[in-house]
Amino acid sequence: MKEFSPANTRFDLSLPEWAVAALNEMPSHLPTLAERMAAVIDFSRRNFVNQTGGPFAAGVFERDSGRLVVIGVNRVVRSNCSSAHAEIMALSLAQRILGTFDLGGPGLPAHQLVVNWRPCAMCYGAVPWSGVRSLVVAGDGPELEAITGFDEGPVHPDWRRQLAQRGIEVITDVLRDEAIAVYREFAASEQLIYNGLLGE
Ligand SMILES: [Zn+2]
Repeated sequence: MKEFSPANTRFDLSLPEWAVAALNEMPSHLPTLAERMAAVIDFSRRNFVNQTGGPFAAGVFERDSGRLVVIGVNRVVRSNCSSAHAEIMALSLAQRILGTFDLGGPGLPAHQLVVNWRPCAMCYGAVPWSGVRSLVVAGDGPELEAITGFDEGPVHPDWRRQLAQRGIEVITDVLRDEAIAVYREFAASEQLIYNGLLGE
């Protein structure tokens, strides 16, 4: 006897209450990349300090004006959803807010995704699907995995050029040390590292 119903064949992802309140407190525009990344890093830190997810955040902005669309945070553990990474949250919420599946669609200004490290294999794949024209990361080296223990998956070594070929600019090393400081703080807090296959 199957027990599927409309209620148990849907899923919802949402930002924690502190993030919603923080978004409402933010200025409408963050003109510089450093301001955008500082906000993202602040959200990444607050997310694990508030125990609402891992130390990851991602923001969607209008690239040229810096208008804030939304900042998402990692919700994997609280949502029982392994794909609820910060980038997926931010891109999906931005698309919902703007009412489009394509952030690079006709009539829209160029959009930019700002993340507190290079996206994992899954989120890397989500970038060209999203329609953003620009990806800004705090860093892209092995430090994130080395400090935190997360397995970011097999990102192709040619990842930058692959994005460039699709018209997506990549900007790295924006507030790199500040991002790393949050990872060190997270590692010292000894919270759950939620890689898959932990039952093995
Ligand atoms: Zn990811």
